[in-house]
Amino acid sequence: MSMDTQDKLKILADAAKYDASCSSSGAKRSNRGKGLGNATGSGICHSYTPDGRCVSLLKILLTNRCIYDCRYCVNRVTNDVPRAGFTVEEVVRLTIEFYRRNYIEGLFLSSGVVGDSDRTMDLLAEVARRLREEEDFHGYIHLKGVVGASDEALAKAGRYADRISANAELPVQGDLDRLAPEKSLKEAESAMGFIKAGIDQSKDRGRRTRAPRFAPAGQSTQMIVGATPSSDAIILNTAHRLYDAHRLKRVYYTAYSPIPNAHQDLPTETPELIREHRLYQADWLLRFYDFSVEEVVTKADGNLDLELDPKMAWALANRAFFPVDINRAPREALLRVPGLGTRSVGKILQARRQRRLREADLRQLRAPIKRVMPFIVAADSWDAAAKTLDAQDLRTRVKPRNEQLMLFEAKTSAVTGQV
Ligand code: SF4
Repeated sequence: MSMDTQDKLKILADAAKYDASCSSSGAKRSNRGKGLGNATGSGICHSYTPDGRCVSLLKILLTNRCIYDCRYCVNRVTNDVPRAGFTVEEVVRLTIEFYRRNYIEGLFLSSGVVGDSDRTMDLLAEVARRLREEEDFHGYIHLKGVVGASDEALAKAGRYADRISANAELPVQGDLDRLAPEKSLKEAESAMGFIKAGIDQSKDRGRRTRAPRFAPAGQSTQMIVGATPSSDAIILNTAHRLYDAHRLKRVYYTAYSPIPNAHQDLPTETPELIREHRLYQADWLLRFYDFSVEEVVTKADGNLDLELDPKMAWALANRAFFPVDINRAPREALLRVPGLGTRSVGKILQARRQRRLREADLRQLRAPIKRVMPFIVAADSWDAAAKTLDAQDLRTRVKPRNEQLMLFEAKTSAVTGQV
């Protein structure tokens, strides 16, 4: 009996949820595995465009058949799961139908590797080409950059997709050798390098002509966390290197989630969701707050402190750096204060041109006073800051009390990365 599109959608949307390169897919759902019953399973995910708009995407695999045997993956060749595959035409039709009904604003398309990497990349790119050229589709398209595909196939993807993500999967080659021996970090980086070059060239061309841009929303990658013993320092060092070398828009960190019939080399427990959250916070500090990996990782075992956000953990480990005088300190020092983000620091710098700032001014700027006060001095709070900084119980006092709320924030921060 041939499978109808609805059955395929059930299987291929469910299989796609393990890919986190689309922002909301890191969110855990209680009815995981039930297909169409939940937001992720129904194939709709949310992603953020470079201008900050949240868009709903149809998130599916072209097929969950795969020639590879990555041990952490539900679609690996040796796993006994129902298999399905769409034709290019079916994905085009589904996308257009969902788009017309206003269910989605775009498509996130990934795939198991069928035939070879090149053929798979070409099929994904062909969906994008037909959507753009034959259906005049102007919605958002995010394609998986299939590692190992030829330059030609990657170039076709870049021509029609807004964003491409070639996944690193694991932070070091040693981890891949253990769990995905057919994969190579070098090859993943070579795909990222090609995409970066395509983006650079098209920007350059774009200045002179009106030629269409290559992957105008840039590229991202994904790393699985907790499938191997690699520490947060190792993960963040790789992320930092990839951001620098290939100008990635985002690195997505996904807590390994035990899969049915998992290989014995894999952990049976999901790492704490909060670890994923801490990695996003640390990632944010590295990119926008000028912290180094050595600074954000404050624990001797190379992992992030799970009880505190990395900025607070750094502040407590470096109390001699504080208090920071909000009326005189340079921007870089203000950015190190827990609770002060780039926006609040901008407002402080502006406001202090007019007057000396007091605690009340911080309240007016909506700074989180409880977090900020132990680490700063304002015009009226010199003594208080000096006392609290030395307090033995400062760690306990600044530790977030509401873990539930924190976990909720963990989901949303996978997108925003706010610190
Ligand atoms: S190549 Fe991708 S789909 Fe295939 S087993 Fe590996 S992770 Fe899974």
